[in-house]
Amino acid sequence: MTVQNSDNTVLHCAWLINPGQPPRQNVRVTVCKGIVTEIIDCPTDERAQIRPIALLPRFVNAHTHLEFSDIASPLPPPEPFTDWIRSVIRYRIGNAADPDFSANAVRAGGSESATCGVQIVGEITTSSAGTSGLRHFTAQTDGTAISFRELIGFTADRVDEQVQLAQQHIAELTDRQPPGVVPGLSPHAPYSVHPHIVDAVVELAINSGVPVAMHLAETRDEIELLNSRTGPFVDFLKSMNLWDASVLASVAGPMDYLKRLAQVPHALAVHCNYLSPNEIRYLGEHPNVAVVYCPRTHAYCCHSQHPWQQLRSAGATVILGTDSRASNPDLSIWKELQHIARQHNAPPVWELLSMITTDAARALGQDPSQFVITVNQPLRSVRLECNCDSEPSLNDALCTASITTSR
Ligand SMILES: [Zn+2]
Repeated sequence: MTVQNSDNTVLHCAWLINPGQPPRQNVRVTVCKGIVTEIIDCPTDERAQIRPIALLPRFVNAHTHLEFSDIASPLPPPEPFTDWIRSVIRYRIGNAADPDFSANAVRAGGSESATCGVQIVGEITTSSAGTSGLRHFTAQTDGTAISFRELIGFTADRVDEQVQLAQQHIAELTDRQPPGVVPGLSPHAPYSVHPHIVDAVVELAINSGVPVAMHLAETRDEIELLNSRTGPFVDFLKSMNLWDASVLASVAGPMDYLKRLAQVPHALAVHCNYLSPNEIRYLGEHPNVAVVYCPRTHAYCCHSQHPWQQLRSAGATVILGTDSRASNPDLSIWKELQHIARQHNAPPVWELLSMITTDAARALGQDPSQFVITVNQPLRSVRLECNCDSEPSLNDALCTASITTSR
């Protein structure tokens, strides 16, 4: 039950779940003018007021592309990957005539993210209209959007123009401090950016302190391209008159990109579905490069098992993203966490929760302390329906629990 007077709100919750902490059952949380002033075990004479809810901090969605938020269901085909990319390109071209399309889709995605309890979003931005669409999300949530400017250009003649775009993006957003829209950079992927763009982005990110996100090791075809410059990506690039074997002459595999990203204080290697034992070990030694696992997109694209558990055991940072509605049915980062919590040998939800809260905030260069519900902090919470009265059954209950409110 919520008891309210002019200044105080008192919440009686069945469970309080903070990242990395044991769940607390039957708590009373007092909030004064938006700040948590007391968290105690619920007094016996108030037990009847306890509501079947679990109280959690709000979430971080480390990776999404909100410009695809108007897509009702994932674009076919899920494989081969190069055909899925063709569908994405067709979708973009089909909507290019509408000047408001991108901003409207980003706004819609921001609203959906807010409803899903997201406080910080790492968004891949492809236009200034997209950046302005993000302001809707930050105003609605008093949250932060990291606007990672997407950079694409495989051939050498695109390098200068893309580096300029990166510089411009940082210059336009550099005065803004969180909460609000803050800059990041995203050289798209090894098959779509010249290595010189990646090098320039790394230098810019070090000098300006912005985070970098890059899709990496997403498919076996990408590994083949990097290892031997053969396979479906060569055909794909040839079909667009972009293939130039010399572009990747200095590259031997994902490790070449991981070593570049490791120089940046806050880097995201998005997907990492196919890593060698050596690359897993390297990520364990460089926790400033966070692997962003997108569980339901991974499942949609029919990949083999993701190495997230081996990565965590090696000491790597692993966080979660939804990716976009082009490969995912919705933008709920909570459902991503539930998806992995149901996997074989997964730790309980409260041990995974940092992947969508504290660890994810830290990986994006943001303050992780706002993702723990504790005294003297503002109450920014997500409430889940949780009709469970014992800890042994709590994990199963959380694996299916829905969000009731986020405030
Ligand atoms: Zn992505």
